[in-house]
Amino acid sequence: MLSCKQVATIASDYLDNNTPLKWQMRLHLLMCANCRRFVRHLEITREVSARITTNETIQDAEVVWGNLQTRLNKERQSNE
Ligand SMILES: [Zn+2]
Repeated sequence: MLSCKQVATIASDYLDNNTPLKWQMRLHLLMCANCRRFVRHLEITREVSARITTNETIQDAEVVWGNLQTRLNKERQSNE
């Protein structure tokens, strides 16, 4: 069983589909809401930065970041 610390360390590789610990990771995520949230936020952040570095203007990037904040705030509220 992975620890939360290990999950945080390999989360980025996991999202790249680049870890031999994929199944241990899934198992941990099934059981640990904190890590689920962590991985999901990491995923959103990566999605946003990928868009920013590809072809959007700075203005679009600001909109995307605004949407990200809204999404995270909503999620935070729904978790309370
Ligand atoms: Zn955990």
